[in-house]
Amino acid sequence: MKEDFPKTLLEMERRFSSVEACRRYLEQLRWPGGFECPACAGTEAWPMASGLWLCSGCRR
Ligand SMILES: [Zn+2]
Repeated sequence: MKEDFPKTLLEMERRFSSVEACRRYLEQLRWPGGFECPACAGTEAWPMASGLWLCSGCRR
């Protein structure tokens, strides 16, 4: 049991980093020239924990 914990944690980290890498890849496909807000065409946004982006211009 003691030896399983770090192994599981490592696998979790690996999976998380691959999910993050996948998300970044999809974002690049979706916004090849960078983020663009569909509501106000702003190009600045903050990533949220849910994986969505919050536009800094209109807060959508
Ligand atoms: Zn916007």
